Amino acid sequence: MNLRNIPSWLETEVRNRDTHCIYCGIKFNKILKKNTATWEHIINDGTIITKENIALCCFSCNASKGAKNLSIRLNSNYCKEKNITSENIALIAKQALIKPPTKI
Ligand SMILES: [Zn+2]
Repeated sequence: MNLRNIPSWLETEVRNRDTHCIYCGIKFNKILKKNTATWEHIINDGTIITKENIALCCFSCNASKGAKNLSIRLNSNYCKEKNITSENIALIAKQALIKPPTKI
């Protein structure tokens, strides 16, 4: 378990899948803080700990997120400025728009 109660097998799976931010698509690096990988609950519910809901996004996208749900977030000024749309987000995020993850 890491600090977010994510089991290590899930952490490994997500780290292997999400090598780029699932929203803006930048490749993670540790040089700039805004480009570091952060843990993301796609549906903003910390109790949904599944591979459909746990993902990695960059610090910048995570910081902009607030408590909004994904479809509302895609209409935010942040997403508009960065050209983040339902068309160009990662597959895992697209799937969450179509079928929001739920608890097991
Ligand atoms: Zn991002």
